Amino acid sequence: MKNKTIKELSELLTNKEISAQELAQYFLKEIEKNDQYNAIIYTDAEKTLAQAKKADELISSGQKSVLTGIPIAYKDLFCHLGWRTTCASKMLNNFVAPYTATVVERLDDIGMVPIGRANMDEFAMGSTTESSYWKPTLNPWNTERVPGGSSGGSAAAVAARLTPVSLGSDTGGSIRQPSAYCGVTGIKPTYGLVSRFGMVAYASSFDQAGPIGKTAEDCALLLNQMVALDEKDSTSVAHEKEDYTENLNQPVKGMKIATPKEFFQEGLDKEVASSVLEVVELLKSLGAEIVEISLPKTKFTIPVYYVLASAEASSNLQRYDGVRYGYRAENYDNLEEMYTKTRAEGFGSEVKRRIMIGTYVLSHGYYDDYYVKAQKIRRLIAEDLQEIFKTCDAILSPVTPSIAPKIGELMNDPVKMYLSDIYTLSLNLAGLPGMSLPAPHTKDNMPVGVQLIGNYFAEGKILNIAHQIQENSDWHLKSPVK
Ligand code: GLN
Repeated sequence: MKNKTIKELSELLTNKEISAQELAQYFLKEIEKNDQYNAIIYTDAEKTLAQAKKADELISSGQKSVLTGIPIAYKDLFCHLGWRTTCASKMLNNFVAPYTATVVERLDDIGMVPIGRANMDEFAMGSTTESSYWKPTLNPWNTERVPGGSSGGSAAAVAARLTPVSLGSDTGGSIRQPSAYCGVTGIKPTYGLVSRFGMVAYASSFDQAGPIGKTAEDCALLLNQMVALDEKDSTSVAHEKEDYTENLNQPVKGMKIATPKEFFQEGLDKEVASSVLEVVELLKSLGAEIVEISLPKTKFTIPVYYVLASAEASSNLQRYDGVRYGYRAENYDNLEEMYTKTRAEGFGSEVKRRIMIGTYVLSHGYYDDYYVKAQKIRRLIAEDLQEIFKTCDAILSPVTPSIAPKIGELMNDPVKMYLSDIYTLSLNLAGLPGMSLPAPHTKDNMPVGVQLIGNYFAEGKILNIAHQIQENSDWHLKSPVK
């Protein structure tokens, strides 16, 4: 059961070999027994089984889609009516969502079954899932290592086979980076393609929800249902309905795939490089043409992203003031003290660091030097990428410079942590889609990810390339659990 894909599980449901309720019970039990990784922070069996019952009704009445009855874990920042939505923060520890995020609603409507809430870095800020107010998540391949972040729980839960699929969010790499460290497949769609309504905001001009699964095909099936114009999100785009599974079987022969030389230079671990190059060789053998390109502004991506994302975070997180949402300090003498104590006690240190950087770069006297300049470079980075897509179908690169770091290694060195985002940030700055899928493991059997970047709305194309890689290799089939 554990290793089955969406299609395989769906077939069992169609043939009545298992019911949606039994399937939900199976995964609830797995989470209860086998989540020594803290991937899922809490479950609500009653709600899960009620939705599974609805799925069974849909199946009996013949209204079944391929997703009906399939369990899914949600990163703990998607609002879901009646479920706690903590964003892994003390600030929202007791927050129960009064409404449902559009993307979750769409998956509910088709009969997918929420199986539990996935752990994450507090407010999605981080690259290790260690900043969670709950326990840190451990990497199922080696529990001395982090699963990556901030969607570490979503990726670890799929890797540990605690759920067939999950949803994460990606602001600067948070779907792709944990997918790479945990050996699973995840995609961050074009900015605006999936509604952000009901997702707790971190940096609104970057945040985007996306699926994580065992295969590119599973991601495509989820994306089919997730994509839709949403009037409740002003940045949601009207994009003609597409079937992302339609072109999965197209040959890659003749495609032009670009490798940016700056992504293969110093700082990249040798084993990671050679693993990614094996994927390049596979694509060549399938007839793709590999061309080396240059993205000379790569060195600016980290400072530009951390200026802009922190600025947006400092603005978005103003709402947590002890009045409107969540936590309020217990002892205070006046209103101002209530605000300051609430925020001092309710936020963890990484979140406070971002709020301080963000407030600084937005303040009078620094705004032009930092915020405005970063916005200008953001545009130039997006333009460089557009140049590449004039002649190439996709860009291929490593996802991260190394395999998953050891627990604790980056916690006290935020700059080192930010540096590990070097390959994932450009596409968020540009709003482009990108995905991570498994490359060959290292000698110590740790997963490595390969990244595919597509042009705007070219999700179908990168999923096609990823599917062809997966049809011709078995790296994505490896599992850390028996
Ligand atoms: N590591 C990056 C950050 O901390 C990305 C996080 C994300 O994509 N949510 O900002």
